[in-house]
Amino acid sequence: MDTFENMEKTTSRLALTDYLVELLRKTPASIIDRVVYLIQGKLHPDYEGVELGLAERLATRAISLAAGMDISFIEQLYRKTGDLGDTVGKALQSRNQKISEKMTVERVYQTLDKTANCIGPGSQETKLKLVSSLLTDGSSRESRYIMKFIMGTLRLGIAEYTIIDALAVCFTDNKANRTVIQKAYNISSDLGTVAKILARDGLDSLKSLRVTLHKPIRPMLAERVRNAQEAIERLNGHSGAVEYKLDGERVQIHKGRNKVELFSRRLENITKHYPDVVEAIQKLKIGELILEAEIVAVNSQTNEFLPFQELMHRRRKHGIEQAVEGYPVVIYIFDILYLESKDLTSLPYLKRRAIIENIAIEQNFDMLALVHQKIVNNIEDLEKQMSRAIEIGCEGLMIKQPTSVYRAGAREFAWTKLKREYRSDLADTLDLVIVGALYGRGRRVGKYGAILLASYDADSDIFRSTCKVGTGFTDEHLDFFYKKLEEIQLPHRHPRVDTRMHMDVWFEPKIVIEVSASEITLSPSHPAGLGAIREKYGLALRFPKFTGRIREDKNPEDATAVAELVSMYKRQLRSVKKS
Ligand code: ATP
Repeated sequence: MDTFENMEKTTSRLALTDYLVELLRKTPASIIDRVVYLIQGKLHPDYEGVELGLAERLATRAISLAAGMDISFIEQLYRKTGDLGDTVGKALQSRNQKISEKMTVERVYQTLDKTANCIGPGSQETKLKLVSSLLTDGSSRESRYIMKFIMGTLRLGIAEYTIIDALAVCFTDNKANRTVIQKAYNISSDLGTVAKILARDGLDSLKSLRVTLHKPIRPMLAERVRNAQEAIERLNGHSGAVEYKLDGERVQIHKGRNKVELFSRRLENITKHYPDVVEAIQKLKIGELILEAEIVAVNSQTNEFLPFQELMHRRRKHGIEQAVEGYPVVIYIFDILYLESKDLTSLPYLKRRAIIENIAIEQNFDMLALVHQKIVNNIEDLEKQMSRAIEIGCEGLMIKQPTSVYRAGAREFAWTKLKREYRSDLADTLDLVIVGALYGRGRRVGKYGAILLASYDADSDIFRSTCKVGTGFTDEHLDFFYKKLEEIQLPHRHPRVDTRMHMDVWFEPKIVIEVSASEITLSPSHPAGLGAIREKYGLALRFPKFTGRIREDKNPEDATAVAELVSMYKRQLRSVKKS
């Protein structure tokens, strides 16, 4: 208890480490894992997703029961202190009761763990009994900490980094050994278990700790580079494996013989949000594997990427089945860390990639795909990849050293990220002319899946394409367009239309619709504004969306002009530079 009080008061990291070392020295190896979780304010490693879930109201009732005081008095005290831990501390100070049982870490941990696991009917009452009995048996100081822990206000300021330092000093007398402990933590994401192995079996046992199925590995991260030149420099004369940086959610997929689990970038268990992904992984004829991938929301019609925000519909608590239907995803795999009992993290990146490619060839990759990759060794090719990536809705590029091993939890230049320089939602909507379409698939059979839009180039009296739009349409809109466009359908591209896109059907440039977009990007495939900003590049809209307005009041020549697009692009650049 004294250690806790000291830790709470100190602001010095060195002093904090010393207090921790002292505490760990006194702790038997059998419970050191629990002590490590408790000082971090948790009961289990984060990926197990165990939460105490005690509402304020219930906590107040527990204090009232333990202190034998009226609930209104406790509430009054709470209003004064502003913290339920301090409230119970004060309430119990005035109690004149003998402490019936010595409070042990075991008792606290077990009771809280039971509380966390209480679910279903009657669980609230059981939680109340468990917590109030703990508070009743504790001293006012002990109960204060217990309540702070329960409410998540136990702010001891102990970072993982400090605990790792303390473990190194306590069990090896040498802070330099923190790197071994850190590494073990990075591949297991479970500091409690790491502490226990160290305390019980010593440092060498930690060295032999391997990647374990169903324990998420702390993700390898990328350093940022400012431009293509820096990215190439960082490769130190070698080629780089250049991949699209997809704008989705990073996921670590653990497939065992009996279950599949998905972990987020922050290592939360997100399995229940993606039953479709689980099903696709279960179909693989592989016993055990760990993959890293980016889950990306896609337009079910065109398979084009949708912005990351669309994916957030998949994170809802209820209606998961409907979300699966409404927001289809594709899993883009970019790494493999484990396969059939083998830890692959020390293989060079391209070897790991080759293993995934083999799996992709041998197995049915329904819903799964490999992240696009190209080996690049010069600025020009890198910039080409960058433009393509941005045009199809990616955030930019990831550039990886082909020989790099997977360094769990590290942010280093073995992986760099090159993001597009700006991100600003276009304030204005644009009015564009329908010039072609792709037929719909799945739910949109018998309608159009995506529509090709063009802006007007007054100088040459040509409609130049600038995007394909597939979102923002209601069923009524789709029916309407199907009928309306049939009247102006052509067997080939209209002579006044300029595009490099291949469409299923073409139209006379007649109908103008309004779209919104997140930004304008350089594009090698849309010719609107070709060469105005960069040679051989036109301008495209990123994430275009139909606003629902058909501009019947506009002639096609009144549509947003190519020159306007160019000046919008320049404005956008300026606003980014300013910010
Ligand atoms: P950011 O905000 O840039 O996504 P971050 O801190 O989450 O940063 P970084 O390692 O810095 O992570 O950037 C890489 C991130 O990009 C990954 O976490 C992953 O979600 C995403 N990503 C998209 N495509 C890839 C890819 N091909 N390879 C690796 N990561 C990718």
